[in-house]
Amino acid sequence: MSNVTVNNPIYSITPFTTLDYPEHLASIFWFAKCNMACPYCYNPRIVKEKGSISTHEALEFLSRRIGRLDSVVLSGGECTLYPLLEDFCAEIKALGFQIKIDTNGSNPQIIQRLVEQKLIDYIALDYKAPYSKYKTITSRNDFELFSQTLDYLIASNLAFEIRTTLHSDLLTINDINTIIDDLISRHYPYTYYLQNYLHVEETLGQTKMQQNILNTQLLNHTLPIELRNFR
Ligand code: SF4
Repeated sequence: MSNVTVNNPIYSITPFTTLDYPEHLASIFWFAKCNMACPYCYNPRIVKEKGSISTHEALEFLSRRIGRLDSVVLSGGECTLYPLLEDFCAEIKALGFQIKIDTNGSNPQIIQRLVEQKLIDYIALDYKAPYSKYKTITSRNDFELFSQTLDYLIASNLAFEIRTTLHSDLLTINDINTIIDDLISRHYPYTYYLQNYLHVEETLGQTKMQQNILNTQLLNHTLPIELRNFR
């Protein structure tokens, strides 16, 4: 589903958020296109349609906000598909902004280059599903690439978070505990974020409302876990 455009890679811009990058005042650049097809994806237009904003326009937008914002979130879609991402991050950094990246982890080499060049400050990495369900959830056989990204980040000094979106008809408590066991065995040192799926009408796979009720008491709490959007 990728086919990323080089000229206008950004689908839209959220001018201001305090929620997406903790303790930061940020803008979000939503990159068009993604190489996965998660059924619960609530950005189907961003995944399927073309971008309309150039990086030049995005940088102009940022230059007018120097002193009012301190950071940018590069999200999508999958921002690591954009072939000139390193150059773009360098230009954002030159304006004095910090950068957070949201990624599905399918491009470990790009992540490694961004970290080594100190072009990013924080990553939110999606752990979509355990190995046994990875293709079912994402439509891709990319667990090994995701795994490389995860291992690299654990070995690096970069602050990052692992998060999973939980739709209870797609993933079970056992699946989540398999993920937690894997994170523990890899010595993941931070909090694990479990995000409850919130139903919206328009998703990539026309996802229905969750029918199963999961008992989060059954989660393996050996690892620090933060639940998001659970009642
Ligand atoms: S939820 Fe899945 S399909 Fe949607 S942007 Fe993220 S990785 Fe791509």
